Amino acid sequence: MNNALEIKDLVKVYTGGTKALNGISLNVKEGDFYALLGPNGAGKSSTIGIIGTLVTKTSGSVKIFDKDIDINIAEAKSMLGVVSQEINFSQFEKVLDIVTTQAGFYGIKKSIAKPKVKDILSRLGLWDKRNDQARTLSGGYKRRLMIAKALIHEPKLLILDEPTAGVDIELRREMWDFLREINNNGTTIILTTHYLEEAEQLCRNIGIIDKGEIVADTSMKDLLSRLDVQGFVLDLEEHLEAEPKIDGYSLKLEDSLTLVTAINKDKSINNLFDELNKLGIKVKSLRNESNRLEELFIEMVKR
Ligand code: ADP
Repeated sequence: MNNALEIKDLVKVYTGGTKALNGISLNVKEGDFYALLGPNGAGKSSTIGIIGTLVTKTSGSVKIFDKDIDINIAEAKSMLGVVSQEINFSQFEKVLDIVTTQAGFYGIKKSIAKPKVKDILSRLGLWDKRNDQARTLSGGYKRRLMIAKALIHEPKLLILDEPTAGVDIELRREMWDFLREINNNGTTIILTTHYLEEAEQLCRNIGIIDKGEIVADTSMKDLLSRLDVQGFVLDLEEHLEAEPKIDGYSLKLEDSLTLVTAINKDKSINNLFDELNKLGIKVKSLRNESNRLEELFIEMVKR
């Protein structure tokens, strides 16, 4: 099968010296639904910016369906739709006009564009709002408008940067359904997210990026089996200055009275208590905290 995306040794150093990407390589197969997961500042947006040629790379190469963005830029771009985080339309234009104008940029004739625009706006629940100025849309609908814009030329690869950040739960689920549908119809999708749940719901394969490096690149299934861990918050009786080091457990001191940990299915929490006891650390109470898992999980993958 072809690769929809091939990234090789990609480096990005911003003016000022921040090294956002440290030579990452990544392949995404045609038809895949791929998640690029990582904490804030990991390098996700930089990667997407480079693929969409909005950010210049320092070195390395990017191919979209075998077309190098340095050599065949027009061909590469015709196969790519990017939904970035920043609003990329005029807030004072009408929804219908924004998407119709975009079709024009890709040389799609008006007569052909018309039904296409109607179709994509309808599928994204925007047809009723077609005559509204973009600025009147809610955050979730603005995001949908950006997706409509990115899809009007029917790209084979769609890349979305945090598509549901700041989108309410109902709209988020609808967007997930929509993305699943277009993926089932053959569009390769890559999305960045820092929600593990989003990646889990949608994606077959996953890359984890941290501090400009790929720390895992595998199937969702494999990752989830590795991720059979539970997050716990331990409230301590006495202040601690530094987190204790205990073999087999990843421990983080959130503040001097709170220790956070993720415990693998093959490890017991009692054993951790024993070890803490030996070090003279007394636990006052224990809470289950699954929403801290993502951060800890990234720590675990690196071990
Ligand atoms: P993510 O999307 O995973 O949050 P980014 O790619 O936005 O990560 O950022 C990676 C690193 O590059 C961060 O340290 C960030 O501060 C830095 N960075 C991003 N954009 C710029 C820029 N335009 N100028 C300088 N540094 C930047």
